[in-house]
Amino acid sequence: MPQPARRSFASIALLATLFSMAAGCGGASDPAATSAGSEREDAAVLLARSTLIMDTHVDVPYRLDEKWADISQRTDDGHFDYPRAKAGGLDAPFMSIYVPASYQTEGGAKDYADSLIDMVEGFVEKWPDKYAIARSPAQVQEIYGRGLIALPMGMENGAPVEGDLANLQHFFDRGVRYITLTHSENNAICDSSYADEKLHQGLSPFGRAVVAEMNRLGIMIDISHVSDDTFWQVIELTEAPLIASHSSARKFTPDFERNMNDEMIKALAENGGVIGINFGSAFLTAAAREYSSNMWSTVGAWVEEAGVEWNSPEGQALRSKFYSENPPVQTTLGDVVDHINHVVSLVGVDHVGFGSDYDGVSSLPLGLEDVSKYPDLIRALQDEGYSDEDIVKMCSGNFMRVWEAVERIAAEG
Ligand SMILES: [Zn+2]
Repeated sequence: MPQPARRSFASIALLATLFSMAAGCGGASDPAATSAGSEREDAAVLLARSTLIMDTHVDVPYRLDEKWADISQRTDDGHFDYPRAKAGGLDAPFMSIYVPASYQTEGGAKDYADSLIDMVEGFVEKWPDKYAIARSPAQVQEIYGRGLIALPMGMENGAPVEGDLANLQHFFDRGVRYITLTHSENNAICDSSYADEKLHQGLSPFGRAVVAEMNRLGIMIDISHVSDDTFWQVIELTEAPLIASHSSARKFTPDFERNMNDEMIKALAENGGVIGINFGSAFLTAAAREYSSNMWSTVGAWVEEAGVEWNSPEGQALRSKFYSENPPVQTTLGDVVDHINHVVSLVGVDHVGFGSDYDGVSSLPLGLEDVSKYPDLIRALQDEGYSDEDIVKMCSGNFMRVWEAVERIAAEG
């Protein structure tokens, strides 16, 4: 689409120029003015298609574990599939190996993580002309060069380490390249931002050993989900830059510990790290945050009262009842841009990226509904005045720099 449109604009402009030269008048300016909008649109689409776009957190494995779908085709639900990723120019979505906190109490965390890694390997076996697993920045580039979608893996929750440092080597060998230290509850490694009562006041002694071993192996440390105390202890301890794979700025959601405050963003930048902005509505504005916490607490009480599971049909019905009684608070693509602008205003363009949380969140901004929408985000960033060079850094350059640094530090021992 974009290229034929550009060609026809060029030929119209040429004809108009010839006409105005012949006629000796300035009547040729109108076509140029009306084409300015589509010209800019083309620039966003072209940049999305010609740039390596990486998203540091996409929850495809968990979604498909709940309900299988053929992601080589357009799927009816969810936020990710091959046709939409291609339309959006998405080249390297980190597949989240998400392990719910319930496995910490019931056991089986490691086996469950392994089963999700098997699933991602299965994507490549089933659809080798579409996907390939990437275990390094060099492999991401190589797979991108072949026109396939690279699937690096990150593990969300350190619970599968199951108290044994040797399991870090196991997951490294299986291709996991970042670990989010915890998830919705405190675990054996550290405290969670979501926990009302913290267990370790930051990292546990085992957690400190985990940080050192991740540095040694070259597994990126992801501080999304951790408590503030954990963050400050990790940043003090780590020898490699950190990532926040899917967090946003707390400035817009006061008191929401899951997002990063300004001091943390500055410390992350000083450490050389990167924050991937979470697109989930509940991460973006105070109103959407409040709506979401109200939903969790209200439906949580209903679910408990009824004695049913969250994800059971009865639990789903209670959630639907809440949504129909309480119209959701809408966010927009502009809210995501506000978060990016805020991080840039604090620390410059070298420390921000995209960590959408697609397939992991239920409410997304108008204009960023699925993985086909990165060109719209790029267009909005161009409209904000960011240069192509800055946007390329946000799309993947910043994250690749961090990943390469983590590899290098591990190699140097
Ligand atoms: Zn998460």
